[in-house]
Amino acid sequence: MSEMKRIAVVGASLAGLRAAEFIRRAKFEGELVLIGGEVHPPYDRPPLSKEVLRGEREPERIALRRRSYDELNLQLLLGQRAVSLDTVKREIRLDGGTVVSFDGLVIATGGEVRELPHQPRLNGIYTLRTLDDALAIRAAFARKPRVAVIGAGFIGAEVAASARQLGLDVTMIEALQAPLAQSLGPRLGRILQEAHERRGVRVLCGRRVEGFGGTDRIESVLLDDGTRVGCDVVVVGIGVSPAVSWLADSGIELDDGVRCDETLASNVPGIVAAGDVASWYNPLFEERMRVEHWTTAVEQARHAVGSLLAPPGEAKPFESVPMFWSDQFDIKIQGVGRPKPTDDLVLAGGTPESEQFVALYGRAGRLVGALAFNEPPKLVQLRALIGKRGGIDEALKIAES
Ligand SMILES: Cc1cc2nc3c(=O)[nH]c(=O)nc-3n(C[C@H](O)[C@H](O)[C@H](O)COP(=O)(O)OP(=O)(O)OC[C@H]3O[C@@H](n4cnc5c(N)ncnc54)[C@H](O)[C@@H]3O)c2cc1C
Repeated sequence: MSEMKRIAVVGASLAGLRAAEFIRRAKFEGELVLIGGEVHPPYDRPPLSKEVLRGEREPERIALRRRSYDELNLQLLLGQRAVSLDTVKREIRLDGGTVVSFDGLVIATGGEVRELPHQPRLNGIYTLRTLDDALAIRAAFARKPRVAVIGAGFIGAEVAASARQLGLDVTMIEALQAPLAQSLGPRLGRILQEAHERRGVRVLCGRRVEGFGGTDRIESVLLDDGTRVGCDVVVVGIGVSPAVSWLADSGIELDDGVRCDETLASNVPGIVAAGDVASWYNPLFEERMRVEHWTTAVEQARHAVGSLLAPPGEAKPFESVPMFWSDQFDIKIQGVGRPKPTDDLVLAGGTPESEQFVALYGRAGRLVGALAFNEPPKLVQLRALIGKRGGIDEALKIAES
């Protein structure tokens, strides 16, 4: 730490801003540079698919930092993208030609939305990752369009719910047999599907998009079973890829994101990663993972800074139970752990019909994941139990309490 005179953080969003704050909280007194590709000061993404889309919250109310940036004593370079990294000279090149040198580096460039193969450039087709995306979709929704959402993951399902709450005609299209079937299993997926259908969303699962109709504006989506979904707006929500193109040929090892060790350190000394871009070996689940959730981004920012500033050999493993929430209509969904479709699944503490229950995922008797509809306090206890490598029996007692 004593040799580190300048730390750069690339990515000025949740993980990057929190990393900068933790760096100062750790009493690092050298120079600090925070570089972000977007022109907006760091803002929170979860409201984008919810309150912002529905026009219930304005952009100035989603700032991630309410206090003055002056207190952090940093150089804030917004609207400037890192285009390459030289790990030998320890320099970052920005798109305007500026070169930023560093001793320590936090990579926090997050994710970039994926597009469908052959996605046409028609008016009315959107993806959602940034504030600008959300405002564009919000403006389109104000014209009362028929909406087709492609992809029933969390973002797609939230967009469908928000559009329906605005009274729009909504069709959600999913290639899998049920929404979120790959991560939560088909049973939970169908429960989510039914909750959407009860509220008027048309959900088409097990169908792939074959093409799009329209010459200048989108008019329809064509599915592989011949169905043609008429629409005026399409939101494509088929996931994100880690934003690592600027690291090509840098010597930083990549593997579905920045490949980190247990401590969130990359293969190059003095370079760590945090947030949606970081792939790391989580000893708690004995597997390598990359998590795209808010809570993990904050926890990783704290941990990665600790690893960066720790004396050699003293960095600790990041053992973490992933946690997320998703608000869809009046349903508060929360999930913890690392569930897989092959896990043993038990529903407890309520019923899917009442839209209040807990789903427990077990593997060889151990609790590895839990998901709840409208049961926040129990999830906090279950998260702690997963962290202690607790069993399903104990989890059932919490779920039924
Ligand atoms: C619409 C939406 C709703 C969400 N809702 C929830 C939710 O309800 N619950 C939940 O748990 N999680 C939710 N998430 C996920 C959560 O917001 C992310 O996990 C979190 O934003 C990750 O933070 P990050 O800083 O790692 O990455 P990001 O937020 O992606 O930020 C990365 C930043 O780096 C910048 N960047 C990328 N490349 C470069 C470059 N080369 N040079 C400079 N800057 C660069 C990007 O422009 C971006 O600003 C949601 C995400 C979205 C998009």
